[in-house]
Amino acid sequence: MAAPVPRPAIDAVPAYRPGRPASDDALKLSSNENPFGPLPSVADAAAAELRRINRYPDAGMTRLYGALEQTSGIPADRFAAGTGSVAVLYGLLSAYCSPGDEVVYAWRSFEAYPIAVELSGATSVRVPLREDGTHDLEAMATAVTPRTKVVLVCTPNNPTGPVVRHDDLIAFLDGVPEDVVVVVDEAYVEFVRDPDAARGLDVVLEERPNVVVLRTFSKAYGLAGLRVGYLCGPAAIAEAVRKTTPPFSVTDVAQAAAVASLAAVDELAERVDAVVSERTSMLAALRAQGWSVPDSQANFVWLPLGDDALDFAAAVDPISVRAFAGEGVRVTVGDPQVNARLVEGAARWITGR
Ligand SMILES: *Cc1c(COP(=O)(O)O)cnc(C)c1O
Repeated sequence: MAAPVPRPAIDAVPAYRPGRPASDDALKLSSNENPFGPLPSVADAAAAELRRINRYPDAGMTRLYGALEQTSGIPADRFAAGTGSVAVLYGLLSAYCSPGDEVVYAWRSFEAYPIAVELSGATSVRVPLREDGTHDLEAMATAVTPRTKVVLVCTPNNPTGPVVRHDDLIAFLDGVPEDVVVVVDEAYVEFVRDPDAARGLDVVLEERPNVVVLRTFSKAYGLAGLRVGYLCGPAAIAEAVRKTTPPFSVTDVAQAAAVASLAAVDELAERVDAVVSERTSMLAALRAQGWSVPDSQANFVWLPLGDDALDFAAAVDPISVRAFAGEGVRVTVGDPQVNARLVEGAARWITGR
């Protein structure tokens, strides 16, 4: 009997298998979420919108784009928002890639990249990270061919943590043809304290025709559950990506929470500072135990456990961490008490060997 057959790209994508939910939110150090609940001003703004959910959202996202323009000084028409920055990336790939085209990115990097690239019909070209968990931008530049449509640069890199340096990014961009879109994924930029780190928006302000920055409200802003992220870049790219976004996808509840968060950046920055100081302590404690941990500038740390990754994850149960078999374990910086338990678990693990 005949049955409908999806595009070959769909078969190539692994089906999503949800992880075991953590028994307690606080024990979940596996998704790089913000350990703080919403600010009262943000929760109130979202709640006010709940009372009018019989209406479709503002499809033009006027207030959100206006608030982004106001806080960044960059014109509203240079932004494209969607239900998380991953959704915006899907849109960008569908706007610029056709089957046979290539997308270059570092590996290991964000798990969503290979899936997003497969779905667009394009082919992934993965360039191994250097030993210290940083991008090998020279090798990435060499991997760009006439078939390359998009390059993804993740800084800080998920899951290893280091940033791309600003000077290195500029040198890289100077060598990439201007008809290749370069996406600088800055999902964790608010946690960066390295003064030499890449500053994506500065690059956007240089008016290069092919560079966009991805930002999200999911991490530092603590709105992972509401799904809002955006791209900032040349108006022509923003316009193309806006066309790919399903209408009414970002709810007014999410838009209002995002706008209220932009108005509360100072309060949110204190929370980000608290996470950064926990990160600093965790890195120091783990290194003192003998772990070789890359310099994370994000809200997680990377333990390069190799073949022991899954065993380590089992050993720290019921804390849930993100294990990549054969590579390592990514641990989100969460509640101080849970971080301390994780660090104790890491000590037991390393002394037990
Ligand atoms: C978490 C994350 C995002 C953001 O995802 P959203 O869809 O905005 O929640 C984007 N890029 C990287 C590298 C991430 O780790």
